[in-house]
Amino acid sequence: MMFQKNLKRNIAVRLILSIAVLGVGIHGLQSQNIDSLIARMTLAEKVGQMAQIDLGVIWQGQPCNPALPVRLDQQKLATAIDKYKVGSILNCGCASSTHSLDEWRGWIGEIQQQAKKSGVLPVLYGIDAIHGATYLHHATLFPQQLAQAATWNPDLVYAAAEITAYETRASGIPWNFSPVLDVARQPLWSRFFETYGSDPFLCSEMGEAAVKGYQNDKNKKNDQISGFKVAACLKHFMGYSAPFSGKDRSPAYFSERDLRDIFLPSFEKAIAAGARSIMVNSGEMSGEPVHANYHLLTEILRNELKFEGVLVTDWEDIYRLHTNHRVAKDQREAVKLAILAGIDMSMIPNDFGFIDLLIELVKSGEVPESRINESVKRILQLKKDLGLFQAPMGLNKEAFPLVSSAAFASKAKETALQSVTLLKNQGVLPLAAGKTVTVCGPAAHNLSLVNGAWTHSWLGRDEQLAKQFGLGVTVAEACAKLGTNNQWYFPESDIQMDLQQTHLTKKTTKSIKKSDVVVVCLGELPGTEMPGNTETLDLDEMQRKYVSQIQKLGKPVVLVCFFNRPRIITGIDSHSAAVIYAYLPSDFGPEALASTLLGLNNPSGKLPFTYPRSSGSVVQHDRKHTEDFHIDFSTNAYQPLYEFGHGLSFTNFQHSTLKLSGDWKRKSDTVWAEWTIKNTGKMASYEVAQLYYRDEFASITPSVKKLTGFKKIWIESGQEVVVRLPITLDMLSFVNQDLKRITEQGDFEFWGNNPTPLKKRVEHTYIF
Ligand code: BGC
Repeated sequence: MMFQKNLKRNIAVRLILSIAVLGVGIHGLQSQNIDSLIARMTLAEKVGQMAQIDLGVIWQGQPCNPALPVRLDQQKLATAIDKYKVGSILNCGCASSTHSLDEWRGWIGEIQQQAKKSGVLPVLYGIDAIHGATYLHHATLFPQQLAQAATWNPDLVYAAAEITAYETRASGIPWNFSPVLDVARQPLWSRFFETYGSDPFLCSEMGEAAVKGYQNDKNKKNDQISGFKVAACLKHFMGYSAPFSGKDRSPAYFSERDLRDIFLPSFEKAIAAGARSIMVNSGEMSGEPVHANYHLLTEILRNELKFEGVLVTDWEDIYRLHTNHRVAKDQREAVKLAILAGIDMSMIPNDFGFIDLLIELVKSGEVPESRINESVKRILQLKKDLGLFQAPMGLNKEAFPLVSSAAFASKAKETALQSVTLLKNQGVLPLAAGKTVTVCGPAAHNLSLVNGAWTHSWLGRDEQLAKQFGLGVTVAEACAKLGTNNQWYFPESDIQMDLQQTHLTKKTTKSIKKSDVVVVCLGELPGTEMPGNTETLDLDEMQRKYVSQIQKLGKPVVLVCFFNRPRIITGIDSHSAAVIYAYLPSDFGPEALASTLLGLNNPSGKLPFTYPRSSGSVVQHDRKHTEDFHIDFSTNAYQPLYEFGHGLSFTNFQHSTLKLSGDWKRKSDTVWAEWTIKNTGKMASYEVAQLYYRDEFASITPSVKKLTGFKKIWIESGQEVVVRLPITLDMLSFVNQDLKRITEQGDFEFWGNNPTPLKKRVEHTYIF
């Protein structure tokens, strides 16, 4: 019941937000004024708006090595703003670290002051607040996106975005490079944990919730964004998440049909929800770097999807058209290619070369000034909607009393609680009172390993920062705090993050021998982008050996996985009495885990991806029929370790078979899928209703199964509820040879959590 209450958006929080919002007022600049403003701007002023530099360029010291404490260099600041008229600044680079609210407000204030003094427009500051305000001391850190997806609860995704927006805006920053809407089809990829998983439907639902949480509930373009909200930035348009080799920013090979079928829907839905900006995929597709791809960036994004917001490059990616992709013979050509492809803003970010080159290109007539005007208009519109013309710093600090508050923490904890995914349980969980438990393994005493990258720094590898500026406790501390009815051993308090040092000590062995159960917390070095690349999905040898040695001691083992991606645990999994996939649940994850181990929380997380049995068998749930064929020609080749959507509970749910009501007589008709779920166990809990379908025969090879609906529902012990999910014809569509979204006439099968399917026919063919 407590969780049900928490689910309802925190009314007190909302009340404070709406009262404070009344003070903002509506600034005077109308959209026709933007046109007249642009008409009065010089070419240099306009091109400056399209330039984004890193904070490292304007601080004292070197970009990767600031003089401490970090202070802005007035000379460099004047060069950026006064001379180059830079329109946007971000920070991520080599030396990005965590700072206080006052430091942030101080720097942003100085930047905006300089802009005012120089007579240029307010600067749009952007940041990666990826699972909370990454670079803010004591920010409320939510579970990383993959863990948020595991809750299958869009309300929690909404809340995470809303709170992240609030804490980001409190720092004077109005633009967030989030959410990641890449559909994770390649588990080797270092950014797997940053996504909402591998399913296009799930990613789309969660993406929409995030955009609304960041910006507003309303689905309107060019609407005012409140002083407590930020502009969202969808990343990374598109096809970034499935590099063939698994290595970040390396080539992907898809047909446009695949792109449209799998990778486009999440962006499309978020654009329809009013997303204000998009960041481009740094990679290449079948030989074409996306930053130079006019078809994707203009024909699809602008002409087809009607995206009117700001399109920003990723880090240094215009230059990389020359240096890395080698489709441009020099930087000048790179700038030309990217701007003509449709880019609005260049995350340059370490110099001003882009500005000089683009001015030159316009003067020589190679880039029409009308192209520049289009981009500047979008950028100024965003600045206007964020209220920057009226109040460049946004609201006063006093307007944000809830930063780092207990109310925010409880939302983050609730998200962590609902993400815990119990993959296997042979009766050992929940731990009975009075049991003696050893908690060990690299992640048992470490906050970085449960938080992952984008935590107080880009790679999130500084344990000192995590402990000093985080709000969390470690797994060991959480177990000691919550498990007062048990006896605990934490034999490895000095264990470090170097996973290669993991080994079974005599002390740990001794504790285990005295224990009834062993909880082994495994981890993966935090990482993202190229530093997060891996050579194999297999769990590293040292941790594997560590678990095997523990298992030989004969005590029931509960394996807890804090991984960036599904590391192969086959073998050690079968010798464990229970397995929990904990994702990267962040600061409040350890408490959520301890609550689950103790049975204070009934796990309701479900895998938002397919857990492979081995590195060589990466097959998705929505696989093609031919992927089911085995070496003996049988059709049982698909044997993942754990299926997409899998997750156990401490209670039992009985799902009836599905019924369908209604008919698709017209294109807009809805058929309803309905079934009952009964909680036949003793604990009240959430359950996730999941609706799947298959198209029996189609002109493009149909999938074995596809997700087309879900709902998270609270069910009391003994209670029976009816779940009702809509099926519209467009939900059954796919992209055909002519690149049209189509639902073809024919038979379909539908089923819910109960796998018995029901057939229904679509009588006509529809194009969407
Ligand atoms: C990442 C983006 C991020 C950007 C700015 C890039 O390297 O790919 O996801 O938003 O840096 O920090």
